[in-house]
Amino acid sequence: MYTGIKNNNTTTPPTVTITGGGGTGHRCAFCGVRMLTSDGHTAVDAAHIIPWNISHDDDPHNGMALCGLCHWTFDQGLLGVSARYLVLLSGELRITQNVPGHLLTLEKRPIIGPAEQDLWPHVEGLEWHRENVCFLTSKTSPF
Ligand SMILES: [Zn+2]
Repeated sequence: MYTGIKNNNTTTPPTVTITGGGGTGHRCAFCGVRMLTSDGHTAVDAAHIIPWNISHDDDPHNGMALCGLCHWTFDQGLLGVSARYLVLLSGELRITQNVPGHLLTLEKRPIIGPAEQDLWPHVEGLEWHRENVCFLTSKTSPF
């Protein structure tokens, strides 16, 4: 079950907890990667949509399960999510020095959300991310 982002301390960033059995099943919401070690460590963790240092919001609606690469890319504003839960790519991802590989295949792909519909990210937070973090050529998403 996806349990959201846990934080018992108000002075440090939260510890993220995603447990198996439900939610996204340890799958990255963007690329679909699912990797677990035999002792249960996962490549996926919960990313804040509105960064914790701004929002101090550990509610599951302010998070998505992302693999390390997608988490970093989202935090850098190179990937975003539309109001219809489609992956958006920033033009910054395609600049000459970058070799984004499989990330280019994610454009307009529906995200993989939690099995529980009421735990999906709030569209308001995704809009905030698009407007304040993403390097989209247009701040408004047509999707
Ligand atoms: Zn990923």
